[in-house]
Amino acid sequence: MNAKRDSERLNQSYMLGRSAFSVFAFGAAIVTSMAAQPVVVIDPGHPAGPRDPGTKGKKVSEVQVNFRVANMLALKLEQQGIKVIVTKPDVRLLLTNKRRAEIANWAKADLYIRLHCDQTTGSGYSIVFPGAPGVAADGAKGPSQHVINASSAAAKKFHAAMAASIQTLLVDNGIKTDAQTPVGEKQGALTGSIYSQVPTLLVNLVVLSNSHDEAWISSYKNVPKLVEALDKGVLAAINFHEEQG
Ligand SMILES: [Zn+2]
Repeated sequence: MNAKRDSERLNQSYMLGRSAFSVFAFGAAIVTSMAAQPVVVIDPGHPAGPRDPGTKGKKVSEVQVNFRVANMLALKLEQQGIKVIVTKPDVRLLLTNKRRAEIANWAKADLYIRLHCDQTTGSGYSIVFPGAPGVAADGAKGPSQHVINASSAAAKKFHAAMAASIQTLLVDNGIKTDAQTPVGEKQGALTGSIYSQVPTLLVNLVVLSNSHDEAWISSYKNVPKLVEALDKGVLAAINFHEEQG
């Protein structure tokens, strides 16, 4: 994949918005059907501050992995008729977790999906969702009970569909709540969840500090299979069936 060209394309779609482009291209007749077009906001995690490099593998960084997978997933979802916004048009862009959530809120996303990699012992992927409200460093509280319920439902559907697709290619560590993560343990919920007014979940794609997982996700053979599984997860989470597209 040509990263520079892709980043320019994303930048363009970020500026224009896919729906605006479609209206110009196909005329007003399409507007009615677009009212039901689902919106998914994908956030490639890190850096969220000046000292937030994310997990470092031996050869690749979490920032690179998150960004690459986010763009591939965006492309796949767009091809299925879903409006996608990626929070970061450039891999190096620093964006606070609050600002990222605000983009999802502004877009009124049907799903706000955050892509990360774990730094822990073990191997494989996990899904994380807010199970309770938390309090951020600035005193903000959230998310609402409505968002908690919607995120819980989305996480269950996402996990089932992703697991069915990826099968035994990656270890399944199941679903966790924000409170089971280091930041969530302190705040009650992850910062990105606290500010989210739309259903949200976070996927830890692999354990990047595990050299087996790092090699797995660095392989061009495996990444499309991971993206396929994430795609199936998103479609299930937003109750999207291909005939709708
Ligand atoms: Zn991360």
